[in-house]
Amino acid sequence: MSGPLTARCHPLGAHRVLEPAGAMPQDAWRIDNTPVAGPNELLCEVDALNIDSASFKQLCDTCGRDPQRIAQRVLEIVSERGKQHNPVTGSGGMFVGRVLAIGDELRAAIDLRAGERIASLVSLTLTPLQIEAIRDVDLRTGRIRVRGKAILFESGLWTRLPGDIDESVALAVLDVAGAPAQVARLASPGATVVVVGADGKSGLLACAQAKARTAPHGRVIGLVPGDSTPGARLLRRERFVDHLVVADARDALEASQRVLAGAPALADLVVNCVNVPGTELASILCARDGGTVYFFSMCTSFTAAALGAEGAGRDVTMIIGNGYVKGHAETALQMLRDYPALHEYFNATFATRTRP
Ligand code: NAP
Repeated sequence: MSGPLTARCHPLGAHRVLEPAGAMPQDAWRIDNTPVAGPNELLCEVDALNIDSASFKQLCDTCGRDPQRIAQRVLEIVSERGKQHNPVTGSGGMFVGRVLAIGDELRAAIDLRAGERIASLVSLTLTPLQIEAIRDVDLRTGRIRVRGKAILFESGLWTRLPGDIDESVALAVLDVAGAPAQVARLASPGATVVVVGADGKSGLLACAQAKARTAPHGRVIGLVPGDSTPGARLLRRERFVDHLVVADARDALEASQRVLAGAPALADLVVNCVNVPGTELASILCARDGGTVYFFSMCTSFTAAALGAEGAGRDVTMIIGNGYVKGHAETALQMLRDYPALHEYFNATFATRTRP
């Protein structure tokens, strides 16, 4: 793309794909990140990136948890690909920022004005991004404060940041909003639900949602690698789980046996919320024949899940964790209002004292 855009752009962003030919922005190796909005695009000033947990863990592992090296690696990825698309995990995250410009054609069609603060609800793996500088990397939360610009396509989902929730907290929750929204659809009254990786962001929201949906006779079992984390304590204190199992989900037999020891039966629904690879089989082994396994984790391998279920003779429905569920942003944010202890936990963990 060169010079100002005047022609209508492809609503899904296909016009910004540079290589390979025929790809769409998400699966493209490189996209055009020119920070100029076409007639049906949005241009935003970006303050912060929320790197998804699988990607951030990989960056931390390869950069020795050194914030400067992580910042350098993110700059390399974005300058090479035009987007924050981790080439190892294939995952991204989302951004928060301020609307700088709305293309002429889009202005009348959407309820948004330049200057408003929004969060993107589409992955950074398909979002044209230019970073001028990285201000800091928060190792605890995976949040990276930047000075940069991003484009949202006509199809790109966004949400206005809520006035009653800290911006960094909202960002952390919105990143995983698909998990509780999908659990709300899948968990039914009386069901047994297992949440693998229960004390992380998506796991906590999934447990609280499962507990509400399966009440009063359902059972929610959380699986965590250790039970002394603040998240694990919250799960027990607020009774978001009936039972907390400590196990390494990469050890399929041991983990599933420990879960089954605390469950009345195999689970109707298993929700996988971990940020490490190799946990597909443990999840499958916790599900009953005819049950459902919802793989929200970005570390999920299609091959491992498909062949693992076949090898174990488990006739389960496996769902890929679509990050988008209608109304997911509002569902997830509303949970913070409905569960003060959850809100308090997210505030203590993710709220920032310094606003971007
Ligand atoms: P998170 O807050 O980092 O939580 C990850 C959880 O996995 C933690 O509870 C962690 O336990 C647990 N865990 C790690 N290793 C484990 C093991 N060996 N056995 C059992 N549990 C283990 O991550 P998140 O933000 O909730 O994200 C969860 C996953 O969803 C990630 O893979 C992320 O990339 C993905 N994601 C998917 C979408 C989507 O659209 N589908 C969107 C955003 C994120 P400890 O904390 O105790 O170590």
